Amino acid sequence: MDQARARTWLTTAVEEARSGLAEGGIPIGAALFGADGTLLGRGHNRRVQDGDPSLHAETAAFRAAGRQRTYRGTTMVTTLSPCWYCSGLVRQFGISRVVIGEAVTFHGGHDWLAEHGVEIVLLDDVECAELMRAFIADHPALWNEDIGVN
Ligand SMILES: [Zn+2]
Repeated sequence: MDQARARTWLTTAVEEARSGLAEGGIPIGAALFGADGTLLGRGHNRRVQDGDPSLHAETAAFRAAGRQRTYRGTTMVTTLSPCWYCSGLVRQFGISRVVIGEAVTFHGGHDWLAEHGVEIVLLDDVECAELMRAFIADHPALWNEDIGVN
């Protein structure tokens, strides 16, 4: 896909990540876009805010989008490489494409998704990486809890 469009869509996910950070949460944001480019849903990680470890940014955006007849042609945009759980969601529902802000601070399941025909657009976005670096430095225990390495 067009990189300029991917970067425009990423700004929505970054806004979500910043909202999460402002709420005292983990700064990961996501947004689901329809095949025609319509924003279907957006959200951010709510582990801390809701005490719910299953509310990742991608799941929050997916749930906000409500029921969709099909996910063919949709794009999940996320500030960070999707974990196994969210990579599973992408495959389960047949989401066609994943736009990723960065995969430096965390390398999730995007190689696996690519192997299974999901289009991956990795943007190497500096702002996304800095957001995570600062957060991990300030809250290492919370980050380890989120990625399950405690
Ligand atoms: Zn996840």
